[in-house]
Amino acid sequence: MAARKTTPRKPAKPQFKPCPPCGGTGELTEPVRVGRGKGRATDQMQSAVCSGCWGSGEIPADD
Ligand SMILES: [Zn+2]
Repeated sequence: MAARKTTPRKPAKPQFKPCPPCGGTGELTEPVRVGRGKGRATDQMQSAVCSGCWGSGEIPADD
């Protein structure tokens, strides 16, 4: 009975990394602004889809 050579499995390199702006949540929480342009920030917070990862919370790793 031949001993089967076990090849150590290399840890797969993650192809994605957590998106920095949203911290991997895929959402950004920002104060609701009223008025034109930058407007005035209110106490209300709204969540918006992160424009860095578009809600996935991950961005492709560079290498
Ligand atoms: Zn993001």
